[in-house]
Amino acid sequence: MDIEELKNKIVNYSGKNIRIMEVCGTHTHEIFRLGVRSLLPENVKLISGPGCPVCVTPVSYIDEALYLAKKGAAVFTFGDLMRVPGSDETLSDARRNGAKVEIVYSPLDALKYAKKHTNEEVVFLSVGFETTTPSSCIALKNAEKENVNNFSLLTANKTMDEAYLAMADSADAYLYPGHVTAITGTEKLEKLAQKGISGVVAGFTAKEILTAIYTIIEECKKGSPFFQNAYKSVVKKEGNPGAVKLVNRYMTPIDSEWRGIGVLKNSGLDLKDEFASFDARKKFNMPKIEGKANPACRCGDVLKGAIEPSSCPLFGKVCTTAHPIGACMVSAEGACAAFYQYGVSQ
Ligand code: SF4
Repeated sequence: MDIEELKNKIVNYSGKNIRIMEVCGTHTHEIFRLGVRSLLPENVKLISGPGCPVCVTPVSYIDEALYLAKKGAAVFTFGDLMRVPGSDETLSDARRNGAKVEIVYSPLDALKYAKKHTNEEVVFLSVGFETTTPSSCIALKNAEKENVNNFSLLTANKTMDEAYLAMADSADAYLYPGHVTAITGTEKLEKLAQKGISGVVAGFTAKEILTAIYTIIEECKKGSPFFQNAYKSVVKKEGNPGAVKLVNRYMTPIDSEWRGIGVLKNSGLDLKDEFASFDARKKFNMPKIEGKANPACRCGDVLKGAIEPSSCPLFGKVCTTAHPIGACMVSAEGACAAFYQYGVSQ
């Protein structure tokens, strides 16, 4: 079906209400950029879910990174984390005050720095979902092979399956993230359908997103739980076994805290005990750190799909992309940033 046909079919849908949660920050932004929300009829609602890795990283993690920076570690991070508020300050604030905090595009850049500066302890802030975790593991593999002992990870890696289960009541179907599913494969999602959780894997072009939405509408009309892969050019049933094997070599599932959602069982990944020498928490003997989120920020409700960002009283007034109060406004993939950037009227 071409794009015009898809648009017509979607616009003319007149059945029962359907709530679709897009579980991917890239989808959230592409949906806004392409104007997909404005196409949807009243009875099809898109809800932004917890698919932005920076947004779901809890305040305590930023505080841990700040703790390490203040202990003298050279902290390397993806750029989005720099402005995420910790309990009292951001990593950008710490850098302004003299801490060594650097932005990198890959953990391998941090490793390269560690190899050149053997008198410094280098910590990479390892956050993200199934798509980014393998790159941390490649850095670890290289560090292990080359005996780099001044490099470690501060992990907050997460996996999506438990989030799909935890958020199941928030929507009738998920728009599953294409790039995460390209790694994990589709088998677990097929099993979720057997448990009553529906969804369709979507790519990122206008046609791919509209195809997935149309597929959801058609499947919802039938009334039974479903799983469909509408991104077959990239997503295969078996996923990427090489990436999965690499991650399984270094990491093990743990219970993990998601900002605003709470602790989800087995939804995170941490280093296996045998790789403790690369674990920044152990290396620095870090105490348990409890973060304090700004009570006025409704990121938690936004991430659960309970409210739209524009319903937060701070949205666009106190909290903007230039002066973000919460993680969802900081990250390029955050729902608040998308609503702010593209306007709330869509
Ligand atoms: S608009 Fe700002 S304060 Fe409100 S939920 Fe989003 S990030 Fe938090």
